[in-house]
Amino acid sequence: MPRHLFLDSSFLDHAYQNKAFPIGANQTISHPYTVAFQSELLQVQPNDRVLEIGTGSGYQCAVLLEMGATVYTIERQNELFKKTNILFRKLQYRPKRYVFGDGYKGLPDDAPFDSIIVTCGAPEIPQALLGQLKIGGRLVIPVGDEAQIMTLVVRDSATEFTKTTYGEFRFVPFLSGKE
Ligand code: SAH
Repeated sequence: MPRHLFLDSSFLDHAYQNKAFPIGANQTISHPYTVAFQSELLQVQPNDRVLEIGTGSGYQCAVLLEMGATVYTIERQNELFKKTNILFRKLQYRPKRYVFGDGYKGLPDDAPFDSIIVTCGAPEIPQALLGQLKIGGRLVIPVGDEAQIMTLVVRDSATEFTKTTYGEFRFVPFLSGKE
């Protein structure tokens, strides 16, 4: 779907370059390559229940909706939350739930999820998110401070997880609380 719809008009010329761009509130829309990379790692099946942490511009959420997922998405930055809410209505993208809150907590009331995608750089893997995966579920999360290592965690059983890493990416930080 057209990426330029998710950027301010001053960045329209850049929409199809493989770059991150500002979306307000010091946040960025991810590189298209990164969105594709994370989306592929999720192995989304139609009607999968997917939790996204970091709604941002709404672009990754829209990609997941186009893939047939039922999307739950959380944003901690109120200015962005409101702006993207207007955009979702305008473009008629309908996440199942769009929540203003702290992604570190996940969404316990809607868990478990088939997969969880974190679109900000996490200092570590939050336990709460691991606990909200179905057995067989997948968590895709960039882990690290300065730069992040793309990490896939598959829940093999109630207590067992398999972790695979996929090289370096750069994300804005996964911050706690909301503002
Ligand atoms: N998926 C977005 C990427 C935006 S950048 C897109 O397609 O545009 C990452 C986003 O994560 C930012 O909007 C940032 O505010 C948000 N974020 C950071 N920490 C968060 C947290 N604890 N809970 C929810 N969102 C968070």
